[in-house]
Amino acid sequence: MSLCRSVNMEQLRVLELYSGIGGMHYALKECRVPARVVAAVDVNTTANEVYRHNFPATPLWAKTIEGLTLDDFNRLDFDMILMSPPCQPFTRIGLQGDVSDPRTKSFLYILDILPRLAKRPRFLLLENVKGFETSSARDALVKTLKDCGYSYQEFLLSPTCLGIPNSRLRYFLIARALPESFSFQTTTEVLVAFPESKRGDSADRTPNSAPSHAPAPNSSKGRDEGRVLYKMETARDLEKKRCQDEDESVRRIQDFLEEEEEEEGGAGPGMGRYLLPPKTLLRYALLMDIVRPSCRRSVCFTKGYGHYVEGTGSVLQSCTDAQVETAYAALDSLTDEQKLLQLSQLRLRYFSPREIANLMGFPSHFSFPENTTTKQRYRVLGNSLNVHVVARLITLMVG
Ligand code: SAH
Repeated sequence: MSLCRSVNMEQLRVLELYSGIGGMHYALKECRVPARVVAAVDVNTTANEVYRHNFPATPLWAKTIEGLTLDDFNRLDFDMILMSPPCQPFTRIGLQGDVSDPRTKSFLYILDILPRLAKRPRFLLLENVKGFETSSARDALVKTLKDCGYSYQEFLLSPTCLGIPNSRLRYFLIARALPESFSFQTTTEVLVAFPESKRGDSADRTPNSAPSHAPAPNSSKGRDEGRVLYKMETARDLEKKRCQDEDESVRRIQDFLEEEEEEEGGAGPGMGRYLLPPKTLLRYALLMDIVRPSCRRSVCFTKGYGHYVEGTGSVLQSCTDAQVETAYAALDSLTDEQKLLQLSQLRLRYFSPREIANLMGFPSHFSFPENTTTKQRYRVLGNSLNVHVVARLITLMVG
């Protein structure tokens, strides 16, 4: 296989920093590069339990990264770093502390260690939130890479570009130690799609380039398109969602759902517990992003999913005979009881953790230890990444 040839056949020694539940490890496995994770490092107890449960043979260091010494790093003798530093310092809700935020300390420590290592790793991949590209942490990373003799490429990618009906726009950087070069032409621009290989290697085919999350074409409805119709949505919002749902390069949500055993009422045993409670329905009805199994879209699932409603991920309409328009009709004029009666026709439920793991590309054999709660599962998944997107990037990086 061409991929093995280009990485010199021997097994790469991989260091997985901020390992969480092992999204990077699954991506590494998926792209079938001969490699072994020589250490995974994370401080989160729940995430570590999940990691250990799925990768019992991988050395997992439950300690802070800044607690590792230069000697510790040198002893690991690694060829590749895979890392997702905590993203709160770079997000809007994280107050944008950037490099002054204490949570950035461990990342700056890695940048400090890199030039001092006895052996420079050949490859480095970093994942972060959108917004990282304009942070000074990113500038510090790029400066360190240049000083240490790496070529690099930055990306902003969402799983939709691989035909997965889930938006999760993330920043990625891949770096390769010179004089080795990437199989594609690097650019100082942040790429928003996978590049084509110069080597014509089948391992990094260009994916369907149809930008499924592209803005809807301008509608001719003029002034009306910004007017709120039902829910809090404008004609423009609905048009955008309609376009996403018609993009056949993206799969349908139903391919990622758990089997629902037929039972009276729609949501079968097990899935019934994911139904939205009445209080949530009443309070957040207007803010929820609702998708049907036939849709080809869902919004990014974040760590507050199943707990906070606004902006944490889509909810599923599990009764497809009902119409959202009807369920939402004239809600304002109804009593709470009538509202609930009307809204409950839709049988709105949360996606289960397993379904979110499916959308994020985790293999079917990935599982949670029995003692982790649903809330903990949503939380660690929300912090994780899309495995297929990272697998493609690793392939591109080593190819
Ligand atoms: N890629 C991971 C998730 C990364 S989220 C996955 O697939 O699940 C960031 C992770 O960094 C969290 O799990 C958090 O516990 C860990 N973390 C944050 N600061 C850390 C530090 N200083 N040392 C070690 N781990 C840290």
